[in-house]
Amino acid sequence: MKLWCNCDICHSYLTSSWVGKFDNLCDWYTHLLRQSPTKTIHIHILGNTITANPENVEHMIKTRFDNYPKGKTFSTILGDLLGRGIFNVDGDLWLFQRKMASLELGSVSVRSHAFQIVSAETEHRLLHLLDSAAGKPNEILDLQDVFRRFAFDNICKISFGLDPGCLNEPLPPMSELEVAFDLASKLSARRAALALKFVPGLTATLNEGLSVQVQKSSSCLGL
Ligand SMILES: [Zn+2]
Repeated sequence: MKLWCNCDICHSYLTSSWVGKFDNLCDWYTHLLRQSPTKTIHIHILGNTITANPENVEHMIKTRFDNYPKGKTFSTILGDLLGRGIFNVDGDLWLFQRKMASLELGSVSVRSHAFQIVSAETEHRLLHLLDSAAGKPNEILDLQDVFRRFAFDNICKISFGLDPGCLNEPLPPMSELEVAFDLASKLSARRAALALKFVPGLTATLNEGLSVQVQKSSSCLGL
């Protein structure tokens, strides 16, 4: 990783010049990936490598999986939100949780339970909402918001046996739980995108501010 880099990508990142052409970071990364002959790009200043090359993905998540731990940096960044769960640990801890999850989630009864929940949410809420919106030509439906609500309902019903009813009509305001989950995810992502985050002291105050906010949101989630 470089502490400073003047290549085109890093320069655009540091000066935020990409903002003029793209709505969000993912759109800009997608554009760069399309242009790259190897379908892989490097953000040196963040120490990040981003790939959309299927061979690279297979190498990382299958062939040489052991070579690509999440690492201490990302475990720390995501620690307040994900704790020591399967998405945030490496090695034996990961392997143990992977085996447990595989036993639980791989069973026919759990799969069938999840299928029924997602089917019901799709049939009784999502399609119904899209149908009624289609009948109102002047009404604007924010699809990103709709699918976030759809995902949140399904996750809560499958994981906690709780139905937050986020897709009920008319669409209710976001619940405190949903706001906290969304904010904790956003702030954790912002922590990861903080350039020069590895320079001691330089971003300590910023990071501390983010940490307090993430911890507040995480405590609302009961984490
Ligand atoms: Zn660079």
